[in-house]
Amino acid sequence: MQGNTVVPVLSDLEVWFLVGSQGLYGEETLRQVAEQSRQVVGMLAQHSDIPVRLVLKPTLTDSDAIVATLGAANADPAVIGVITWMHTFSPAKMWIRGLSALRKPLLHFHTQANRDLPYGELDFDFMNLNQSAHGDREYGYILSRLGVRRKSVVGHASDPRVAREIGSWCRAAAAWHAAQGMRVARFGDNMRYVAVTEGDKTEAEAVFGVSVNTWPVNELAELVDQVSDAAVDDLVAEYDDSYDVVPELRADGDRRDALRYAAREEIALREFLVSGGFTAFTDTFEDLGALRQLPGLAVQRLMADGYGFGAEGDWKTAVLVHLAAVMGSGLPGGASLMEDYTYHLEPGRELILGAHMLEVSPSLTTAKPTLEIHPLGIGGREDPCRLVFTADPGPAVVVAMSDVRNRFRLIANAVENVTPVEDLPNLPVGRAIWRPKPDFVTSATCWLAAGAAHHTVMTNAVGMEVFVDFARMADVELAVIDEGTQVVSFEQSLNVVAAYRGGPAPM
Ligand code: MN
Repeated sequence: MQGNTVVPVLSDLEVWFLVGSQGLYGEETLRQVAEQSRQVVGMLAQHSDIPVRLVLKPTLTDSDAIVATLGAANADPAVIGVITWMHTFSPAKMWIRGLSALRKPLLHFHTQANRDLPYGELDFDFMNLNQSAHGDREYGYILSRLGVRRKSVVGHASDPRVAREIGSWCRAAAAWHAAQGMRVARFGDNMRYVAVTEGDKTEAEAVFGVSVNTWPVNELAELVDQVSDAAVDDLVAEYDDSYDVVPELRADGDRRDALRYAAREEIALREFLVSGGFTAFTDTFEDLGALRQLPGLAVQRLMADGYGFGAEGDWKTAVLVHLAAVMGSGLPGGASLMEDYTYHLEPGRELILGAHMLEVSPSLTTAKPTLEIHPLGIGGREDPCRLVFTADPGPAVVVAMSDVRNRFRLIANAVENVTPVEDLPNLPVGRAIWRPKPDFVTSATCWLAAGAAHHTVMTNAVGMEVFVDFARMADVELAVIDEGTQVVSFEQSLNVVAAYRGGPAPM
């Protein structure tokens, strides 16, 4: 049952590398431009931080070729974005029609072929060949004038920082690509009376390209009942191999049947999601139909395979969980639903303990989880099986999405997961304990001011920069809380954004 991931392999995806010049310089210069472009792309491709395939296209020297090339990038389903670099001087009016039609993410790479000034050999032939210093500024002007959203990356292709910045953008572009046409299945509605998990599903398709729709949970329950015993045998054997299974759930244990039912739920959920082309889903403990357990183990394992999930009908977080899994493709760590639960409020050493009733992804740990069964106080069903573990210590990001009436707002906090100073013998769920940046008081004050949710995606695979790049592609507000955040300027920035995007202002 392994190999069921819905996360794309990023090396299967292409980013086109487009170099601008003009015919003025003659064939020999354009030959050198093409040769140096190959060298620059070759240098970038050597960095493991750039996860996609970079494809160099022929040098662009006129408006029609630019329109044709950017149009081809729009149309090619393998292309997740384009990188542009004005090697020489490419008078920027020739880019207007092409850029106006571009529908894929854009990165402006401001670089040049040589790293160092060749003082002794530097003459005007060299100057004319290596003039991106003004070619790219001409191009930056037209990008700004047209209001083209892009990331600007500055520096030499050999610089690891440059590769990291381009790599982050590639990961964001892969997530943006995954969002277009993404399908989310909701079993039941939102938890009754809850505000923050609501949202405009029609707007989600307009803004993110994500289609969110509801199915009766009993369609899933019927599939659960149809799962064959042989399939269940195979899956519980996989559980036995993968986890430290508590005695009562083992083959000779007196609650083995409960684990077999959890396996039925996993098999049925996968079948439903695969056959419908869904990469994220929600459920709610208030509407379980004929299901005998709230799906716990199944949801945890599906998240580990890259499916997005939101509890209590929270489709916005389900979207974020899948997209964060795509961003982290091929990297250690993972993405999970997380919920701010309870605090350690020792002054100056505050911590947040995050968890959920059951549904935290084991991709957050490198340790072997235990597979346990315990009663669940709400939902009124049979005791659910679940994986129990603590997220690995190290840097992570939590991101929430709120519907602020006229639009969506993303809020992200850089955090540091820590090792619990004591065991948690009576907390039988997946959990994480973290120290938010810049400090607990600032983080929570800003989080509250932004109207950010208690549900988040937590990722320990990628950092803040990928979400910044993603928000820019989506043209969605992102309020960042990190090492440099101060409450006053954070609240002011919310007001500034509200002034131009509309919607309620916090102060
Ligand atoms: Mn919840």
